[in-house]
Amino acid sequence: MSTRSMNTKRTKYHLLQVIVRIIPIQIKSAPWNCLIENCLAVMNGLSFALSVVATQYLFDVIADAAVGKAGYRECVIHLVILAAVTFGQQMINGIQNFHGIGVLLPKSAGRLTERIHKKVMCIDPVTFEDTDFLDDLNKAKEGVRAITMFCMLVFACVSFYGIYFIVIGTYLFRLKPLLILTLLLAFIPAMLAQTVHIRIFAHLEEESAPLRRECDYYQKAICDREYFKETRILGAYQFFYQLFDDTMKVLTGKMWKAEYKTALLQLMLDCTTFAGMAASAYMLFHATMSGEITVGMFAAVFAALTQIFAIMQEVVRQHMGNMNRDIGKVVNFIRLLDLPERAGEEGASDLAKGIAAENVSFCYPGRDTPSIKNVSLKIAAGETIAIIGENGAGKSTLVRLMTGIYRPTEGIVLIGGLDTARYSSSSVLKEISGVFQKYQRYKMSLKENVAISDFAIEADSDKILSILNDTGFEKDNIQLEDMLSPEYGGIDISGGQWQRVAIARGLYRENGFIVLDEPTSAIDPIEETKIYKQFARLAEGKSALIVTHRIGSAKLADRIVVMDAGRIVDIGTHEELIARPGQYAKMWEAQAQWYERA
Ligand code: ATP
Repeated sequence: MSTRSMNTKRTKYHLLQVIVRIIPIQIKSAPWNCLIENCLAVMNGLSFALSVVATQYLFDVIADAAVGKAGYRECVIHLVILAAVTFGQQMINGIQNFHGIGVLLPKSAGRLTERIHKKVMCIDPVTFEDTDFLDDLNKAKEGVRAITMFCMLVFACVSFYGIYFIVIGTYLFRLKPLLILTLLLAFIPAMLAQTVHIRIFAHLEEESAPLRRECDYYQKAICDREYFKETRILGAYQFFYQLFDDTMKVLTGKMWKAEYKTALLQLMLDCTTFAGMAASAYMLFHATMSGEITVGMFAAVFAALTQIFAIMQEVVRQHMGNMNRDIGKVVNFIRLLDLPERAGEEGASDLAKGIAAENVSFCYPGRDTPSIKNVSLKIAAGETIAIIGENGAGKSTLVRLMTGIYRPTEGIVLIGGLDTARYSSSSVLKEISGVFQKYQRYKMSLKENVAISDFAIEADSDKILSILNDTGFEKDNIQLEDMLSPEYGGIDISGGQWQRVAIARGLYRENGFIVLDEPTSAIDPIEETKIYKQFARLAEGKSALIVTHRIGSAKLADRIVVMDAGRIVDIGTHEELIARPGQYAKMWEAQAQWYERA
């Protein structure tokens, strides 16, 4: 099943589902800090509610003192109690802010990022061909802080606001049951606004992620070092700038629309808040005039009214606003965690059995037509096979299948007897090494650039030097410890030197099956043939697969596989293939002149 078909039915999550899924993940990321955060929130909520009760007692005792029913000392005691409650409340508030932002947030962000990394390691590599997945991954990576902020808000809603409203609600109910309406008048419009906010921003996040990715790419093409030479010399700056500008306009248009809708909503919320406060104040006034509540109660609840509505405003305007913005990122994180992992049994491959593809077909995610169609091929132990064919013939895809990186859509691939669809990546890839077209230029030392392929063994300088030597790497002025990156205060090396470093990296890894998928495409045919000759010598006794467009390199192999449109159209030795009419003979004719001087 292709990843696209898994992802096109993207699961929709409701707020409650998101909360139920993300809270345990958040708690697991920093259990003690989540507990402390919630305890502080409960204390904070209680202290807010306590200040209302303390205010009531203070006003009541002052009212009593005015008519001679209470003394000066009692007034001072209640004043001190109110001051202590207010001070305590400020202290708890400060500690909670520090703990949430300064401790819980960075700690959880680190742990959640770690979780993303672990997940990415377990995901089937073919998933990276799926743009939906790349979107989710991007957003999840960007959103780790947002996830913790989201959870902190959920904690606050339950432990702070929840406690506050329960205590205040009970207090109001005991004063006069009808006063409980005050909470509902503050709560219902705010909750409705919140629901709409969530919808608007979740939708915006879904729509804007691909656009943001596009913008980032165009910006990269304009500003990044690896692009600037080409974009400047080709005058492509204007092209990318135009694309960036157009995409940015669409993106900002969508953002503006969302902001406009929420601003309108906010205005309506403000009006209902005002009406709610007025209705509550009237109920309060009426209860005081009819003698149901004391003046102290009136004053305390009247003061609390502003607080209740202000807290609701805070929940909706500030917190829910952030929550709405973050929910999309949380959903992406959940989607990422929900992606199926590439599981499989553990097993030991025996490369003496060779590598075999049997009736293999493969379709990329999102593509309707297969890139590899019913291919069968066997590489015997110690045999070198070259794959040759036009661009898009399916050479690289076949390599990815025969190395077990991708699993076939149909048919089976056996590496040293292990079925790649059944066995785990680590079992299948254990004794395989490779150098690919888009090899990496790691911003690390020369030594690390080579030894990275086998971190299990301690970097062996002699082995590295010998392999670099064999690949023809010119290391006259370069030390193994030299950093290969001007950005990190090191040096840069030529493209040809980088290619040799990449090949050395592939060879450094202990392997019984090695692949060379045209890392040399940028260099001339003669030089490529020289490198491939060195490679063939170094890979002697191992099974090897080399991909090339060039006959000079292909003829070094024991057998040559000719591919066209995802199929194997011919197979044989160089001599056999040039002796019969076909694509290979034509290519040989066209390319022979390249090698005449060699
Ligand atoms: P080249 O010589 O240009 O590297 P190739 O022979 O290695 O080409 P592949 O890269 O294997 O060919 O591509 C085979 C087919 O699969 C092509 O039609 C290509 O468009 C398609 N293809 C390759 N990569 C992807 C991808 N990531 N998503 C969708 N289709 C892809």
